[in-house]
Amino acid sequence: MTANNPEISLVVPCHNEAENLSALYSRVNAVMKKTGKPWEMVCVNDGSKDDTLEQLLALHQKDPRIVVIDLSRNFGKEAALTAGLDHARGDCAIPLDADLQDPPELIPELLAKWQEGYDVVNAVRLSRDGESWLKRASAHAFYRIINRMSEVDIPADTGDFRLLSRPVLEAIKTLPERRRFMKGLFAWVGFRTSSVYYHREPRYAGKTTWNYWRLWNFAVEGVTSFSQVPLQLAAHLGLFVSVLAFLYAVYLIIGTMVYGNPVRGYPSMMVTLLFLGGVQLIALGVIGEYLGRIYEETKGRPVYLVRSTSKSSSITQAEQHDSE
Ligand code: UDP
Ligand code: MG
Repeated sequence: MTANNPEISLVVPCHNEAENLSALYSRVNAVMKKTGKPWEMVCVNDGSKDDTLEQLLALHQKDPRIVVIDLSRNFGKEAALTAGLDHARGDCAIPLDADLQDPPELIPELLAKWQEGYDVVNAVRLSRDGESWLKRASAHAFYRIINRMSEVDIPADTGDFRLLSRPVLEAIKTLPERRRFMKGLFAWVGFRTSSVYYHREPRYAGKTTWNYWRLWNFAVEGVTSFSQVPLQLAAHLGLFVSVLAFLYAVYLIIGTMVYGNPVRGYPSMMVTLLFLGGVQLIALGVIGEYLGRIYEETKGRPVYLVRSTSKSSSITQAEQHDSE
């Protein structure tokens, strides 16, 4: 990073957050002053309908460390966060909700872990005040299900509030997918990861835009982006039905041969029906299996990511050796 770049970038997606911004700014400012490090706060206005943009611009006038990115319309939090992370210039970035549910006071702890050498520091919620029992229970169920179905481990009770080092930011930029389930992507890239813990407070002002319908869609997005289990379901189901059909066929055939069956044609029809049903499901499953591969290929995620190599240092050593 060049000399006049900030060391720490806070990234804040904002959708109708006018009432929260001044409180956010003063709390962030107080915390960052204590760390004594150069920082910036990249605020992404995600198509707000209130005067979020005006307030952000006013903050920028007052303090040029506030960087304002204004999106052309509401693209949703994941897209806003992506935009913010793309514009972050720091050696590390910390996504932060504008509603102060992610306390800025935790930032020094995140930074301390970063200085210990971790690339990703998750902020894990110990409690969630101001959120309903149903929301907590459904969130818990969601993490259990997605972690069963998917190969990447998406940490439970971790929002987008976390620290990402520059190599991680660059890695996330190489993920070309358009539908971005950020929590999954943050987990997918890997790197040395640690956690700090905090108690989540209720929203400072305003109200959440995440109703249950949006949360459900978000969950579906997460599962379909990170798991092919739903696609493979047909194959398992088909196999299961076929085995049952086979057992039933044996039972019917033996029964018919021994006792006869009063309904003519029934046994053969049932056997054919069940067997064909099973075979069709298996065929669908096979198609699903290939579709899953096509899906995986079209996502075009890199096959691997490199954290660091010893190459650069060995080259300079070799060059020094030559010139001696
Ligand atoms: N947000 C956004 N675009 C949206 C919805 C939300 O940028 O379409 C931002 C919002 O301003 C806030 C963060 O995403 O900074 C989290 O939103 P919210 O507090 O509504 O979600 P919750 O905390 O209830 O999960
Ligand atoms: Mg919130």
